[in-house]
Amino acid sequence: MSRLADAAKQAGRSPDSVQLVAISKKQPDERIDAMLATGQRVFGENRVQEAQGRWAERRNQYSDLELRLVGPLQTNKAEDAVALFDVIETLDRDKLAAHLAKAMDKLGRRPRLYVQVNTGEEAQKAGVTPAETLSFVDRCRREFGLQIEGLMCIPPVEEPAALHFALLARLADEAGLNKLSMGMSADYELAARLGATSVRVGSALFGARPNPA
Ligand SMILES: *Cc1c(COP(=O)(O)O)cnc(C)c1O
Repeated sequence: MSRLADAAKQAGRSPDSVQLVAISKKQPDERIDAMLATGQRVFGENRVQEAQGRWAERRNQYSDLELRLVGPLQTNKAEDAVALFDVIETLDRDKLAAHLAKAMDKLGRRPRLYVQVNTGEEAQKAGVTPAETLSFVDRCRREFGLQIEGLMCIPPVEEPAALHFALLARLADEAGLNKLSMGMSADYELAARLGATSVRVGSALFGARPNPA
């Protein structure tokens, strides 16, 4: 991913200020193992159960693995997610905040948390609206005792991503947060230029997912 490093440098940022999160959902085992062999240790998944199957054993082999949940989380999976993931990027409602807080207390494990923002206000997409973001982050902190590390977004496919990345950066700034999870295969270089601290790259890294579903 030298293109990621180049994009960061062009923006006057240090290349290691942008974390590459390898999105391994639906990828075959041999590609996962080949990626691990390159030294990549930060991976993202969008489903709890699928991630358990892929990572439960590899976790024991690679003590320095970092697993990130980047897909929607149901409250009945909150405890499983807290048990497996190091970072949960899709916190977007009070009920989930309450379940996560309870699971963290129970398991004594505190994954880092990102609030997902639905920057395009799309009906079918998860995330809090831009207008709700500051008050939601505040409630997570004060009502649920959760520390929030940053914000995450998935821009609408048909709109220029730059506007959404800039909006996410502004909201994070207003919320006093300095971590931004934004940018995927099609636009991770743009995201890196606009302040992403992590980019979530799947197909551009592994190749197309074999069984899209
Ligand atoms: C699948 C997925 C990605 C990676 O998508 P690519 O286009 O393959 O890079 C990034 N973020 C989320 C939330 C995803 O679900």
